[in-house]
Amino acid sequence: MTAKPVHFKRVTLIGIGLIGSSFAHVLRRDQLADHIAINARSQQSLDTATKLGLADSTTLDPAEAVKGSDLVVICTPLGAYETVIQTIAPHLEAGCIVTDVGSVKEMVIETLSPHIPDGVHLVPGHPIAGTEHSGPEAGFPELFQDRWCILTPTPGTNANAVERIAALWQTAGMKIEIMEAKHHDHVLAITSHLPHLIAYTIVGTATDLADDLKQEVVKYSASGFRDFTRIAASDPIMWRDIFLNNREAVLDILGRFSEDLTALRRAIRHGEGETLSETFTRTRDVRRKIIDAKQDK
Ligand code: NAP
Repeated sequence: MTAKPVHFKRVTLIGIGLIGSSFAHVLRRDQLADHIAINARSQQSLDTATKLGLADSTTLDPAEAVKGSDLVVICTPLGAYETVIQTIAPHLEAGCIVTDVGSVKEMVIETLSPHIPDGVHLVPGHPIAGTEHSGPEAGFPELFQDRWCILTPTPGTNANAVERIAALWQTAGMKIEIMEAKHHDHVLAITSHLPHLIAYTIVGTATDLADDLKQEVVKYSASGFRDFTRIAASDPIMWRDIFLNNREAVLDILGRFSEDLTALRRAIRHGEGETLSETFTRTRDVRRKIIDAKQDK
């Protein structure tokens, strides 16, 4: 589907890490904004953004950054949202759209909604695209190409604002899905949050091994371990915030996972080869479906 043309006068990005900078690259590449204002925590990140040609203006003050903006995109870890919205809310102008890229959505609505002034539109979003790298230099405009972006507007959300945000992500190359925030959080708990938790656990277990065994883990990592280390190299603060803010859905999925793991453990102990091969055949089919859906790279 071709994206509808969309343009903003002044876009403010709060946070310019992997996702914020990738988005800024898209804004630049497709000339979607007259002015890109960038706010981050550190002057170093702002300087890098300027050096990369992503910013028309930078400031360490989020309130200053959002003044006169018709679009504000929050691209910080979830733990910063409360402070960010409290600081920017009094400076948001009527007609402005506030969106975000956070990996959990119910918490985002609960945190941001109470502060959104009348006449300002909140359209929570989550581009399902990423790498294990972070910071402004990690971004690239093709990150979003052919991936899904989930928007989770609440029932009263301005339809035109939702359409404009959808058009923006479509221009970035994404496919759009509109979903209820609670459902988003359940789906992501299984597709993203649990796999990260498992990777963090496996790699954590390996780091606690005796020194000689640890060296062998690195030496023979190509046998499977290596793939987990890529996921477990993801930003610790971002992932801390995801688990703290999607607690119920993650605990629910983790409970089911533990039961399935126990069943496999029992099958191994009792030599039930058929149970093992049946499970592994089913999982192979999932991989094929992902390849067919072109989501394997
Ligand atoms: P990142 O590379 O670590 O960048 C985070 C950015 O937020 C940095 O520019 C940081 O500033 C800034 N920041 C942190 N605290 C701040 C604060 N209090 N006020 C203003 N700026 C602040 O993170 P990311 O990977 O882009 O992730 C950002 C968001 O995208 C997260 O909510 C995450 O859940 C979501 N997300 C991530 C991925 C992924 O794969 N990485 C995918 C989809 C969605 P400094 O650089 O100055 O410290």
